[in-house]
Amino acid sequence: MQQTRLANTEVTETKPPLTIRLCQPRGFCAGVDRAIQIVVLALKKYGAPVYVRHEIVHNRYVVEGLQNLGAVFIEELSEIPDDHRHCPVVFSAHGVPKSVPADAVARNLFYLDATCPLVSKVHKQAMRHQRLGRHVLLIGHAGHPEVIGTMGQLPEGAVTLIETEGDARSFTPADPLALGFVTQTTLSVEDTAHIIEALQERFPAMQAAAAESICYATTNRQEAVKETAPGADLYLVVGAPNSSNSRRLVEVAERAGARMSLLVQRATDIPWQEVGDITTLGLSAGASAPEIIVDEIIDAFRARFDVSVELAVTATETEDFPVMRVLRDVELTKADMAFVNGTR
Ligand code: SF4
Repeated sequence: MQQTRLANTEVTETKPPLTIRLCQPRGFCAGVDRAIQIVVLALKKYGAPVYVRHEIVHNRYVVEGLQNLGAVFIEELSEIPDDHRHCPVVFSAHGVPKSVPADAVARNLFYLDATCPLVSKVHKQAMRHQRLGRHVLLIGHAGHPEVIGTMGQLPEGAVTLIETEGDARSFTPADPLALGFVTQTTLSVEDTAHIIEALQERFPAMQAAAAESICYATTNRQEAVKETAPGADLYLVVGAPNSSNSRRLVEVAERAGARMSLLVQRATDIPWQEVGDITTLGLSAGASAPEIIVDEIIDAFRARFDVSVELAVTATETEDFPVMRVLRDVELTKADMAFVNGTR
């Protein structure tokens, strides 16, 4: 930081200039927004506790905010005490295998399914392939809840997971003429295109889903990062380490020419020593990262730099997924969502 000596010997600090290229769109997508709204509205309508199976979206800050409001996060339905069976249980935005709602019914639980409609669409596409006699190839990451949910729509053995181009090259189908593919919604557009190319080269008869499975929010956020990364001294993506779409944004920034690209959950994660003398910062947020953290990051830079924010608008998103009918009679106010959206 430079110092300026004034005539009366008073010393003031002159902050170095910093341009922040702020991506638009960034942060919450319509599916994440809807899932959080479902938990908030269920708490308003039915009172605490509301159980939530798995992190509703992959973000610690969101989970803790909902816990403060009375949500209880569980991994399995068996964790709900017998005397709480009347309390609602919400399924996360990533989707669940068919066995989960079936288990909820068997346990006589009242469940609210917050699966993103775009994930449900992929489930339907996978089921359609199977109905038409095709073996389903799911391009995605092993162990991700969305992949577990999509595989769990079909009987065991009906789906093969393809994680890499290597998998695409080594996979041996029973019938190469009866194949269909779908993808996880939050993959790298570029990597997925290479995997699909490799599969199509080997199995020209393979059928695509009727519509693109990588969702609009993933595509738009990657595109915005790609446009703002070239020449950036540092790129920060707000998001959690277990958020697939956030991690992809970090990779996209690096590939597109940012000198350094990092995932941060909070402003306290910024490694100031490494940041050093930068003049251009790229900033985006994964689809599960709240805007309030983006504000926090910008404020942290303002404390050290003379910041000017350049909004880089690369797409306009109008998607808005309504909550289920049973919650539509509850009013959702700006104050209800201030814990994630802030009050600005
Ligand atoms: S990232 Fe895409 S698929 Fe996932 S919740 Fe958001 S809109 Fe839905």
